[in-house]
Amino acid sequence: MKDRYSRQILFNPIGMNGQELISKKHVLIIGCGALGTANAEGLVRAGIGKLTIVDRDYVEASNLQRQQLFTEQDCLEQLPKAVAAKEHLAKINSSVDIRSYVMDGTSVNLVPLVIEADLVIDATDNFDIRFIMNDLIHQYQVPWIFGSCVGSTGMSYTILPGNSPCLQCILDATPVSGATCDSVGIIAPTVQMVVAHQQAEALKILVEDYGALRTNLVTFDMWKNLYHTMNMKRAQKDSCPTCGENPVYPTLTYDAQTKMEVLCGRNTVQVRARREVHLEELANRLKRIGIVNQNEFLLSLQYEGYRVVIFHDGRVLIHGTDSTEKARNIYYQLVG
Ligand SMILES: [Zn+2]
Repeated sequence: MKDRYSRQILFNPIGMNGQELISKKHVLIIGCGALGTANAEGLVRAGIGKLTIVDRDYVEASNLQRQQLFTEQDCLEQLPKAVAAKEHLAKINSSVDIRSYVMDGTSVNLVPLVIEADLVIDATDNFDIRFIMNDLIHQYQVPWIFGSCVGSTGMSYTILPGNSPCLQCILDATPVSGATCDSVGIIAPTVQMVVAHQQAEALKILVEDYGALRTNLVTFDMWKNLYHTMNMKRAQKDSCPTCGENPVYPTLTYDAQTKMEVLCGRNTVQVRARREVHLEELANRLKRIGIVNQNEFLLSLQYEGYRVVIFHDGRVLIHGTDSTEKARNIYYQLVG
């Protein structure tokens, strides 16, 4: 171990002691796209003890420009991102205990994962899940590093529950645009810049050097050469339902039923049902309708001009529409 991590151990604030701590810690990464793959690779190379990855999607060609762990082969095989990432990460560092979950994180299924983690890293691409995470990490008192990027702009912020204003408080103080990578694009260096901030903060938390943590919100624009830090100390509101005096964790009372969700900018609707699907049986039935591509995690087919992807957890992506009504019809016709 000494040799493998020698340069990190030589770095004084980490040292042998810090390396020991890193090797005993467990990090949960929610999302395994651009931010998720780069964060996961960084932690695995640093010698983290255990890593858990959660992602709901599979690898597509448009990911390869910036999602650093994935290959053309992953894309051809339509591998779920969590599965492909785990495979590549294990080759980088075989001593790390890596777990991956192909699922859509909810206020229910993320609870056991958050409770077990020493640190949670945000690598998602939407605020629905971030607000759930904001509530979960406050309820269970787990540090969390928020990160987001679009175009050439990004931001990062570290939350130690009880010590920092929560995500809701900082966003109330800092308006965020609704732009997404699918509507205005993104360049890879933006991702790396956010990840660099998240990783540095992660190492500080893992070696328990809390005094070194950044307390402000970082925002930057790499094309316009702008870099700002904003002090967020005053953003905290006593009335905040998540980090205030009487927290109620509003998103955790939400009951996840069958739910339609338009995926922003992707011309895609996600249907989430509570029941699992028997992929083999379904594939046999759907073969009468069209050509079904299948692996052990999902199946996909073209149906009436839409591309439909069905996961074994009952989740369905319908590409080619942003109408929930159309998606609902297709879902009932195909899955029943
Ligand atoms: Zn708050």
